[in-house]
Amino acid sequence: MLIIHPSDASSTYSHYLREILGVEGFSDVQLCPVAQVTSARLKSQAVVFVVRMAVSVELRQMFLEYVTAGGNLVVFHPDDAFARALGITTTRRTMMHGTVNITTPPHSSESIPLHIPAALWNVGDADVVATMQHGNVTAPAILKRRIGAGIVLAYAFELAQTVARTRHGDPALAGMSTGGLDGVMRPSELFVHQLDPQRSKVPVADLLTAHFALEIDALAPQPRIWYYPCAGQTSTLIMTSDDDWSSPADFRVMIDALDQYDAHCTFFLVPQSHISPGALPAWQHTGHSFSLHPAHSRDADMGLLTDLPATDYATMLGGSFERHNRVYGSPARTVRNHAVRWLGYVDAARLLASHGVQMDFNYLPVAPYFWSLCGSGRPMRFVDADGAVLDIYQQPTNWTEECLIHPEYVFSFKWNTTLAIAVTDEYIDAAATRYYSPVTVNSHPVSFASYSRPLIEAHWKAAERNRMPIISAQEWLDWTMSREQIHLTWVGNELRMSGDAAIPHATILLPPGTTPSIPGQTVTRWGKTYKTVSLSLADGESKVIATRG
Ligand SMILES: [Zn+2]
Repeated sequence: MLIIHPSDASSTYSHYLREILGVEGFSDVQLCPVAQVTSARLKSQAVVFVVRMAVSVELRQMFLEYVTAGGNLVVFHPDDAFARALGITTTRRTMMHGTVNITTPPHSSESIPLHIPAALWNVGDADVVATMQHGNVTAPAILKRRIGAGIVLAYAFELAQTVARTRHGDPALAGMSTGGLDGVMRPSELFVHQLDPQRSKVPVADLLTAHFALEIDALAPQPRIWYYPCAGQTSTLIMTSDDDWSSPADFRVMIDALDQYDAHCTFFLVPQSHISPGALPAWQHTGHSFSLHPAHSRDADMGLLTDLPATDYATMLGGSFERHNRVYGSPARTVRNHAVRWLGYVDAARLLASHGVQMDFNYLPVAPYFWSLCGSGRPMRFVDADGAVLDIYQQPTNWTEECLIHPEYVFSFKWNTTLAIAVTDEYIDAAATRYYSPVTVNSHPVSFASYSRPLIEAHWKAAERNRMPIISAQEWLDWTMSREQIHLTWVGNELRMSGDAAIPHATILLPPGTTPSIPGQTVTRWGKTYKTVSLSLADGESKVIATRG
C-alpha cells in the first residue's frame, strides 16, 4: 500500500512511485490517501510505502504500531521528527549532489548520481544498505532497522524524485539552449550539467529501481511480473527507423535485411514521405509497422529548420498528425519527431498524448552523451515537474547510427564502424546479462542503404547471440500495455492471475515458499533463483498459477 498526500506539495512524486513499482513487476499497488489511513487498514498490509510528506503525530504513531507488530514500512526522506521516531539518528543537515553506492551485489559496482538533496543521517544501530558520498563526506543513503517484530527500510532521499530527474533532466533548463549544437531544442538539452558524459553509459535509474525491488522482495516476498514475456528472455532489441524522406528502394533494402533476421521494425514516416499507403500491407505482412515522424513542412525542401519558435511547435505537430491520419488512415501510437525536436520540460509529451500517442521515442542521446541519456532503457510514463503523471510512456532510445558514425554531423561521435560495433556490442551484452534493460535503436532506411548496414547488422547479431527478440516499437508498446493490466491476487493459499484483457504471453517470478501450478523454468536473476510460470490468458480468464507451501 502506497500512502499519498494529495494536499502536500512535498509529496509531489508519490504517483510516480507507483509507476516504479509497476515497471518492477509489482501488480495491484493500492494508493491510500493519508486521510484514510487507519490502524486496521495498515494491519492487513504486507508493505506500506510512505513518500516524503508531512506526517502528523497521530499518523506517526499508527505507522510505529504497524511496524512494531511485524509490518514492513518503507519511508523516503522522512522529515526529521518522523525519522527520529523511527530510531534514525539524524544530523539535521542535508547532502547535495551525492552519489549512491549500493553495498550488496549484484549492484555494488556502480555509483549512482542523486540529482536531489538527501538527508544526512548517522548510521546509529541500523544496517547500511547503501551509502552516499559527496566530497569527503560519506553517509548512509539507505538504512534498514528492526523495530519490534517489524522492519523499517529508510531512504535518505526521495527515490521517485531522483528517478524522475534522472529520466527527464532538469526542469530549470526547459526551453533553453544548453548543448551548443545547431539550434534545435532536443531532450538532451535538459541533461547538460546533470549528466557526466563519461558516466552516461550505465542505466543508473534501472539499477536503482531494480535494487529497490530486490529490497521489497527481501522484506515481503511477492510474485512479480517479469520484464519480458518469456522466462528465458533477459532483454529485447527494439528497432525503429526514421523515414527522413528515404526512397522506396532504401526501404526495400532495409526491410529485406530485417526479414533475413526475422526482425521487426516500426518505421516513423515523415509528412511528404516517398512511401505510398499502398506499399505498406506487404511490409506489415512480415511484422513491420508504420507510424509518424512529425516534421516541419520546410524540413523536406530547405533542410532541417533550426530555431523553430516554441509558439510554432504545436502547429508543426498538428499538421503532421492531420496529414498522417488523412493519408494513411491509421493512428500514430508511437512517435519520434524529426531531429527529436522537443518542447519545454514535458510539454511536447503532453501534446503528443493529446494526438493519441501512447509511447514516445524522442529521448535520444546526442553527443557528448552516450546511450543512457535517461539512465534507463525501460518504458515508464512521463512525469511533470509538479508530479503529474502523463498518460504516455517515455521509452528512451539508446542510439541512432548518425550520432555514432556519421562523418559530419555536429552531434556525431564520428567513430569508425569497427569502434562503434565494439562499444555497442559491449552495451548490448551488458543490457542482456547485467541490467535486463531493453535496447532501443534507430536506423534510417537511407543511412542503412548507404553507410550504416554493417553497424546495424552487428546489433542484430548481438541480439541473436543474447537471445533477444528484435521487435518493433509497436510490439513493445503492445507488450508494455498488456503487462500493465495483469493482476496477481492471493485467494487463500492460491495465487490467481487475471487481466483486464487477453494476455498473449507473460512470465511471473514466484516468491520463495510457493509451488507453481503450471510447469515452468527456474531462472537466476540478479544472482537470485526464481521459480517461474509462463502462460497466456484469454479475455476474462483467471487462473491459479501457484500455491503457498
Ligand atoms: Zn528525422
